[in-house]
Amino acid sequence: MEVLEGIKIIDLKEVFSTELLVLLKKIEIVSKKRGERVFLVGGIVRDSLLGIWSKDIDIVVEGDAINFSLELKKTIDAEKVITYEKFKTAVLVIDSKIKIDLASSRVEYYEYPASLPIVENSTIKEDMYRRDFTINSMALEIEGNFSSEVIDFYNGQEDLKNKKIKVLHNLSFIDDPTRIIRALRFAGRYKFDLEKKTEILLKDGISEGYLKKLSWPRLKQEFKILFDEKNSMRAICLLDKYNILEEIHPMIKCNEKTLEKIKKIEKVGKFFEIFKIEKWLIIFFILLENLEKNEFNQVLIKFDFTNKQIKKYNYGILKKTEILEKIKKIDLNSEIYIILNKISIETIVILMVESQNSDEESYRKIKKYLFEIKDVKPKIRGEDLIKKGIKPNKFFKSKLNYYFMLQLDNIHLKKIELLNF
Ligand code: ATP
Repeated sequence: MEVLEGIKIIDLKEVFSTELLVLLKKIEIVSKKRGERVFLVGGIVRDSLLGIWSKDIDIVVEGDAINFSLELKKTIDAEKVITYEKFKTAVLVIDSKIKIDLASSRVEYYEYPASLPIVENSTIKEDMYRRDFTINSMALEIEGNFSSEVIDFYNGQEDLKNKKIKVLHNLSFIDDPTRIIRALRFAGRYKFDLEKKTEILLKDGISEGYLKKLSWPRLKQEFKILFDEKNSMRAICLLDKYNILEEIHPMIKCNEKTLEKIKKIEKVGKFFEIFKIEKWLIIFFILLENLEKNEFNQVLIKFDFTNKQIKKYNYGILKKTEILEKIKKIDLNSEIYIILNKISIETIVILMVESQNSDEESYRKIKKYLFEIKDVKPKIRGEDLIKKGIKPNKFFKSKLNYYFMLQLDNIHLKKIELLNF
């Protein structure tokens, strides 16, 4: 991308889709009308400079973002607008793909380390200073012909070019220790290094226990976001390198085997979408799999799992080896169903990936369960049995189950053929 050669002008027309440009034009019109300057900020600027398409549109209004968003909603076809008076921010949801976050430019003060900040209006320059890293502290003004100079007070472009994650000031990690995890997430994602001084500050922050000062819900959220990264492996290695996984549980060990599994999981991203799985859960379970049952349960409680979920997951995750042994020995669809139906979808995907390359037969059976067996609906229902003269007594449920298993093993039989089997 141009900035890497030192050119600081970005032509948004080259970077963004027509759809987005139309949206920006409307934002610009509202900006002119209200006499408030507006800027694209944060991730979208960083990613545009890297030539990466970013879905999240963050906008800073030098003025009142809430009223700006309400006015903007009148001109664009947005599903809804959500406003947060306390933070002077708003979110405009255009559709399932595009969402615009609007914030009033602001400065933030931290009353004490790791507290939530106090917010006051400011200029874009001050707004940039409250941000986490230089590469996230750049802005592009939405104006005129969309050929905009990158607003870059802290040399973000230079750090982007040199692949460095750098904080803006020495107190950054003290102010907000979530930045420790964010730094490793971005370093992992873009294969960047921590700038030398930033690394010293980060290490100091960890040894001084800054992460422990954060409320657990905030820390937990950062872990989830990191595990959800498309390629989380490098960031997880960094969490391990700086002993941050200990915050989840001191017994978590991220060895070669764990990393190998995560690597394999990253390759089957399409399954997460197909089966509506939250990716972070899979990575999380892989990291937890060497824990004892009570340690595993402790962590799940910490992550707000319900008792029902804990029961479900600890059966699958902690008994993986036994389950795979059982799968090896069976072959009928009904047998595969009986074993896997009890197990969470996340565990099944982990089992599938683990058996791939090492036990092709089990891999084939698990895949068959996911794609051919899991969603089969029984053809025979209670009313069919009653019509056949079977009385609804205590054996009725097992009778129905018998027909369902029969159906699974004879998948092409019609209802009538099943009933007469
Ligand atoms: P991603 O691609 O992961 O969405 P992003 O940079 O858009 O990355 P967000 O978490 O959406 O990340 O935050 C948007 C912007 O807000 C960041 O680029 C950064 O400028 C600022 N920001 C977010 N979290 C913090 C924080 N903890 N401290 C300071 N600035 C932050």
